[in-house]
Amino acid sequence: MKITSKLNLLVTIVCLSFTGLVPAADHPAASVDADTALAKLKEGNLRFATSDASQSKPTAARRKETAEAQHPFAVIVGCADSRIPPELVFDQNLGDLFVIRTAGNLADDHGLGSVEYAVEHLGARLIVVLGHTRCGAVTAALESDHAPGHVQSLVRDIQPAVKAIKGKPGDALAAAITENARQVAAQIKTKAVLGDLAKEVRIVFAIYDLDTGKIEWPKD
Ligand SMILES: [Zn+2]
Repeated sequence: MKITSKLNLLVTIVCLSFTGLVPAADHPAASVDADTALAKLKEGNLRFATSDASQSKPTAARRKETAEAQHPFAVIVGCADSRIPPELVFDQNLGDLFVIRTAGNLADDHGLGSVEYAVEHLGARLIVVLGHTRCGAVTAALESDHAPGHVQSLVRDIQPAVKAIKGKPGDALAAAITENARQVAAQIKTKAVLGDLAKEVRIVFAIYDLDTGKIEWPKD
């Protein structure tokens, strides 16, 4: 190979790396970029909230397609509440979302490890912390800083949000729910170890309305 050909090849590889077409180091390429992922979630929630039928019913074909490998385009840190399965409220299918759920949509070390895994090894670039109206875990934390058994760990980790909204006007529960989701998103930003991929990753929070099925996307 002539020197000029080698140089051209090198320039091509460098350019492809910068445009994200070649994964950095040993990481897989992004499933889709963060902004595209967010648009897909917003479109999916609109379908869920405004139409009677899901467009993303799991099928045998989709199961077969995803059996060998997964490329979820977003990570959802959601509440374990039975009324808010992320795949349903975002109208997505098998293999689309990497979901972490606890009561109160918290991110402990297991959650953070799961976020890191989804970004580094599965190509997800969008992380959504999804709170919701009338959340039981946030209600419990608002009522008391003590709870029996391991519920205490949930109440303890929601307390910073409860303290942050104290004395502010308006609905205390709604404010605590939004503040809790905002704080969990901020914690993931600070604590998740994402290395070079951090610059490609977008972390946002959102609130699901149990009455309308719609998701609000507050600004930070
Ligand atoms: Zn909840």
